[in-house]
Amino acid sequence: MLSQKQLFLQHVGQTSPTPLAIEIEKAEGIYLFGKNGEKYIDMVSGVSVSNLGHRNPKIVEAVKKQAETYMHLMVYGEFIQSPQVEYAKLLSRQLPDNLESVYFVNSGSEANEGAIKLAKRYTGRYEVIACRNAYHGSTQSLMALMSDKKFSQAFRPLMPAVKHIEFNNEADLEQISNKTACVIVEPVQGEAGILPPEDNYLQKLRERCTQTGTMLILDEIQTGFGRTGKLFAFEKYGITPDILTIAKAMGGGMPIGAFVSSKEIMSSLTFNPALGHITTFGGHPVSAAAALASLKILLEDNFIDEVNKKGEFIIDKISHPEIKSCRGEGLYYSVELQNADKADKFINQGVKNGIISDRFLYNDTRFRISPPLTINYKELEELADAILKTCNEI
Ligand code: PLP
Repeated sequence: MLSQKQLFLQHVGQTSPTPLAIEIEKAEGIYLFGKNGEKYIDMVSGVSVSNLGHRNPKIVEAVKKQAETYMHLMVYGEFIQSPQVEYAKLLSRQLPDNLESVYFVNSGSEANEGAIKLAKRYTGRYEVIACRNAYHGSTQSLMALMSDKKFSQAFRPLMPAVKHIEFNNEADLEQISNKTACVIVEPVQGEAGILPPEDNYLQKLRERCTQTGTMLILDEIQTGFGRTGKLFAFEKYGITPDILTIAKAMGGGMPIGAFVSSKEIMSSLTFNPALGHITTFGGHPVSAAAALASLKILLEDNFIDEVNKKGEFIIDKISHPEIKSCRGEGLYYSVELQNADKADKFINQGVKNGIISDRFLYNDTRFRISPPLTINYKELEELADAILKTCNEI
């Protein structure tokens, strides 16, 4: 009989020639459990999805309850579904006044697609500007936003009229003009190897967008929901986007995303033509119920305030000659090793030492530390020990 691994390689579409291919039997809190009793600390959180840990009991309960009430009813936007309505109300109360209208979708890519369509429709312009080394998704328009042609070249033609600027480069902001529909940016660049903004870059970007009537889209798909030590990273930088995109941790492990804007801007998708963005499963009630439970947990107590302390705690503990630098915010860090070969060895040896990390699309000398935000100090010590042991062995 073929093993699960053989069947996986044979029948499940593969994204790369070298998948980790670890068979996971169960997940709980910060841990993933393998078939033969292996126990791994998850330093990736499904790429910033499992911020509240795997199988958070309150989220599981909300999923069960909603599944027993109703699941899919109708294409998004037709029926009044309480999990969506309650979520939109609670989320908009946490956001600046202009972010009051939530358009539910299925994923991060779809949120960014919707946001760019909205910006084009509202401004009547079509030029889109993104930052080099950004990642916003993998559809044919979002691939056009990738500056590294290694990933996108083979899929051309992609969305036209895209320009790239350098993140943190003030001079490049001049390229934003009254022809630009939108600038889309991650407040902290993820796949560049967790690169935070410097020298009031986001404030200057906001000013330039306001001057030119350009929509500022903040992609908080990875940074959102507490990852950088605030509910949303933009709160730290004193700016407000015209359109906010969210997904990943939004659903607490269930698939859901959204783009959020003012009622006035959002109404561009409602009229002339109507049906500006159609999505069957967007805001699926079970996912929306999970999202509502997740947001409530995040807002309880001072949960998010601890995130910065936890990040500093682990970074303090992992001083090692193999480690050149650590960069990031909250519990969203990248660790730079001596070279790409060492980073590869770290990931592979880490698995043997019970830690799962990951590389970055555009930075091959770093590995990722972004465990569930629920990680406690004892678990952080355990994680630090495993990182140091792995550094000794590479
Ligand atoms: N934007 C950012 C910043 C991301 O990190 C990702 C996914 O990694 C996306 C967008 C795309 O999200 P999804 O994979 O849910 O389509």
